[in-house]
Formats: sequence, C-alpha cells, structure tokens
Amino acid sequence: MYYFDFTATTPPNNEVLEVYNLINQKYWGNASSLYKTGSLASTLFEKAKNELKDIFKLSNHNIIFTSGATEANNIAIFGVANNYQKKHVITSKVEHPSVMACFEHLEKQGFDVTYLDVDENGIISLDQLEKAINNDTVLVSIMWVNNILGSIQPIKEITKIVKNQNRAKLHVDMVQGMAKIVPDFDFNDIDLFTVSAHKLNGLKGQGFLAYNDSINLMSVLKGSGQQNGLKPGTIDVAGACACTKAVKISYLKMQEHYEKVCELNTYLRQKINQITNVTINSGEKNYSPYILNISILGKNSETVLHFLEQFDIYVAAGSACNSKIRKPERCVLAVTNDENRALSSIRISLAAQTTIEEIDYLIDKIKLIASKE
Ligand code: PMP
Repeated sequence: MYYFDFTATTPPNNEVLEVYNLINQKYWGNASSLYKTGSLASTLFEKAKNELKDIFKLSNHNIIFTSGATEANNIAIFGVANNYQKKHVITSKVEHPSVMACFEHLEKQGFDVTYLDVDENGIISLDQLEKAINNDTVLVSIMWVNNILGSIQPIKEITKIVKNQNRAKLHVDMVQGMAKIVPDFDFNDIDLFTVSAHKLNGLKGQGFLAYNDSINLMSVLKGSGQQNGLKPGTIDVAGACACTKAVKISYLKMQEHYEKVCELNTYLRQKINQITNVTINSGEKNYSPYILNISILGKNSETVLHFLEQFDIYVAAGSACNSKIRKPERCVLAVTNDENRALSSIRISLAAQTTIEEIDYLIDKIKLIASKE
C-alpha cells in the first residue's frame, strides 16, 4: 500500500495499543468509584493529565479528555461563547468543519461572526484580525495548521494581538500542528487548545481540550460532574492514557520527523513542479511539510483519487470529513479563487516513514493521469 493520507489518519502505534489494552484489562474500574479499583483508575487518569501538562509545560491549564478534536472544539467554542454576555466572535475562512460549523451555529443564535480572509499562502492577515477585535469580542478561534493546505498560522503573533486588544479568549485547533511542527509559542499563552490522538499514531475517538483554569466554560453536554462537568460520563481511563502515550511518543520524535518530512516535501514539490497540467495549491511559505495540496487541471478530484487507488495509492480529495460532498474545496477556493482548481484538488500527506521510492511511484502515476485526454 502507498499511503499518502496521514492527515486523515495514522496507523496506531503498538505501544499505544499496549497501554490501551493493559489498562482495560487490569485497571478497568470506574474512576469515580470510591473504593480501591476506582481510586487506582483515578490515579492513572490524573497521571495522564499531569504528563500532558508536563509535555506542554502548562502551569494553569486543565485538561479534559474527549472523544477527539471535534468534541473538544465544540466544548471549547460553545463553552466560551455561551458563557459570556459578549456577542462577537472571530474565526477564519479555512477552519476545519468541526470549528466552522460551530461558528455557523453561533451566527444562527444571533452572534456577530467575523470570518477572516486568507492570502495566497493560506495565512490570515494580522492587520485584519487586529481591526476586527472589539470590546464585544468574546472568542477568537484560529487553527494552527490547516488540514487541507498545510498553511501554518502565526499563532505567536495572534496570541499577542488577542491579549493586547481586550479580554477575548483565544482557541487554537492544534490537530495538524501538534507534535509535527515545533511550536514557537508558549502553550500557556493559548487560552484553549484542542488535539486529536489519531493524527499522532494514537487511536480514533480520543483527544483532549486544554484550557486556562481562569476561564468559565458553560457545559455543552449535560450529565454528571466528571471532568469538571464539561465531559460528563464515565471516564475512559484507558483512552486518556493511550492518548497521552501517543502525544508523548510523537512529541519526542517531533524534531527528527520534521527534518525528514521537510526533505520529502522538497523532493515532492520539485517533482510536482515538473509535471504539466499540475499546480500546487499549498503556499510557498509558512507551510507544514506534512501536507501538499495540488490540482490536476481538468481532472475531478474524485476521478484522480480512484485512478490512483487502482495502483494501491491513497490520497485525499478535500478532507475525509467532507469527502461525500462534491463541492469545490472551500480552502483551495479561498487561496486560489479558482473553482476549477478547487474541484480538482488532491491532498497528498506525508509521514516520516514515507520513502522517496513511494513518492517516485506516486509521481509516475500522477504524470500518467495528468497526460490523459
Ligand atoms: N481539526 C482538524 C484541523 C482536523 O484535521 C480534524 C480531523 N480531520 C479535526 C479537527 C477533527 O478531529 P477528530 O477526528 O478527532 O474529531
């Protein structure tokens, strides 16, 4: 198999699976129970949270384990927006659907929503952000790395603007940047951030929200009081420990993997640039080496995807979350303003285990379809 869809998901690491199995076999007690099996499970759960806090050097954040980043984004966005009197919120035009749909819902609830534009590199304008924030702004939500284009937003600068302007909270969807891009910001400066384990060789249905403990969040989910009432329901201790393990392993390898993937990306870009009828939609600067978005002009994304599949090659047409809907890819449209390119876009994503031979094989087949009438 020639897998080029690591942005959609990654294979689970054996060590992560071992942790998950071990805890389910040995420490399956309910972490809320007051007797020994409960307190054992609860201790493991607290340990998992503390390990994450150590990795990110968090001093004043709480961690809520969730069923992935979609749930974490919902808890964060609605939790902030619905708990304050202010009615203005800001996000960008290239957010993941799990953020975008929340803002569209807030708009229906009567919030005034600013959707920031992006430039040809997929990056927001700090100037536009600065001008958009006002005294009524309660929340700014900007992703770290875009899941379609790979553009890296200037989180450090965004942090400064949000902090300086007023007391709006900053939420960052870190799913595609976490343990892949070396952060140039302090995690303590981000009011709320969200992570998904299955993008980091962890398991699907696992992730977390980290939020500054000075923030009052209104609970979206109603139930018992587990996890500060924000994620009520019996605690998935095995899931939390497996999630932490995935983050820990990938964080340790981050720099080494980043360097390897940079080389692969440079090679891939160079080869793609030599093919006629193929254009690169990902930006020229501030991009994640893990993602390259291209268009094979005149060829529908899905046609290309299935053509490559015949050769056991797997790429994405748009994002997996949206793959059943055939519309011009929203993020590609935002950077190219070209519907044809947005309809023919393909996302190639890499990992440290990707080889030059695999890339050569992919290039060969892309050349084949690009030259077809
Ligand atoms: N945000 C981004 C940027 C993503 O790429 C994804 C996964 N496609 C999510 C959020 C949602 O993550 P999960 O699958 O854990 O719900």
